[in-house]
Amino acid sequence: MICLICAGMASRIECQGPWEERDCPHCGHYRMADALILTLMEQGQIFDVAQTRNWLAQQRLNEVVPCIQAHEALLAL
Ligand SMILES: [Zn+2]
Repeated sequence: MICLICAGMASRIECQGPWEERDCPHCGHYRMADALILTLMEQGQIFDVAQTRNWLAQQRLNEVVPCIQAHEALLAL
């Protein structure tokens, strides 16, 4: 499976609910909302990889598996 952030190789984790869960050796373990993935594909947007990894690292202080919902600040424009 492909990492939704850096497009490298990542494991897909089976999960329930409206999101995809990935474990990437570089970005770590995270969930991303299906709605956000669809928006990204429709608009041809990609994440700012460095910024997203920083954001995930901060979220992990509070949450074991951060969930990326709709975080426009993380997009590379
Ligand atoms: Zn990654």
